[in-house]
Amino acid sequence: MAELLDGKAIAQSIRAELRVEVARWRDQGILPSLAVILVGADPASIVYMKSKHKAAQDLGIELRQVQLPEETTEDELRHVIRFLNADPQIHGIMIELPLPKHINKAGVMAAIDPLKDVDGMHPVNRGYIMSGEDGLIPATPQSCIEILLRSHVPIAGQHAVIVGRGDTVGKPLLFLILRQQATVTVCHSRTPDLAAFTRQADILIAAVGQARLITGDMVKPGAVVVDAGINETSGGICGDVDYAGVSEVAGWISPVPGGVGSLTTVLLLRNLLKGLALQRGRLRD
Ligand code: NDP
Repeated sequence: MAELLDGKAIAQSIRAELRVEVARWRDQGILPSLAVILVGADPASIVYMKSKHKAAQDLGIELRQVQLPEETTEDELRHVIRFLNADPQIHGIMIELPLPKHINKAGVMAAIDPLKDVDGMHPVNRGYIMSGEDGLIPATPQSCIEILLRSHVPIAGQHAVIVGRGDTVGKPLLFLILRQQATVTVCHSRTPDLAAFTRQADILIAAVGQARLITGDMVKPGAVVVDAGINETSGGICGDVDYAGVSEVAGWISPVPGGVGSLTTVLLLRNLLKGLALQRGRLRD
């Protein structure tokens, strides 16, 4: 039976680290503050925003909710972003997705100051992921790496197979795991005979969005399996990995819920503090 990659426990220890860091900023008279922009009233986005609010409060971080009507134009949204970019009391900005169809997502993401871009979506931060420079890295791929590192799973020299090349998870993860000295294969919907690749993985990471796509017969015995998928099914939330079958074969496995997803909010807030430190560095330059 596979050992558990316990996202909840790891999130708890990161939260303890962040509390210390937040207290240090507050002692210097700086209240770390995140602005979350919500355009429209998507019910799931409202839930996410509230849960971020709670998580931020728990760490002593201020969260400013900026709620805009559905009919907000792209220009108006850019204006709000520019205003928040210029506000020295705001250290991070994130936009809840999805945006209404009339707003170009990439365009507005690129309007955020890269040092306030806690979601790591700005082209500058995207570039830093590739070059290995110190920027803000999106929370979910960061979470996949963090869960491995904090569980003391060796990565260097291992063959990592990522299933999924999406902009949110798979693609950034490719560069992050490469940085950890793994040999990397990326599979996608046009990969013929997916199982032939997944069976070669020492570390298998699923980031697809298809419930239980990865089954026990697709996994090498003893492999480390990280499940970044979140799928809503009639039986509740499940990952891209068939947990029951794969945990019989794998050496390590992350559950859904309780794995990768448990870390994403706390890593987003860690990005806020990292961005704040980078902004202070810019002031000193
Ligand atoms: P995308 O939809 O952008 O990408 C999905 C990828 O999966 C694509 O590269 C697609 O291939 C590939 N794919 C689809 N079907 C197959 C298949 N049968 N075999 C192999 N590859 C396939 O997804 P995201 O990157 O946005 O998200 C991936 C998953 O991560 C989702 O389940 C999402 O819910 C989850 N997620 C989890 C978060 C968390 O907090 N834990 C946060 C964000 C996302 P192609 O490129 O060829 O189309």
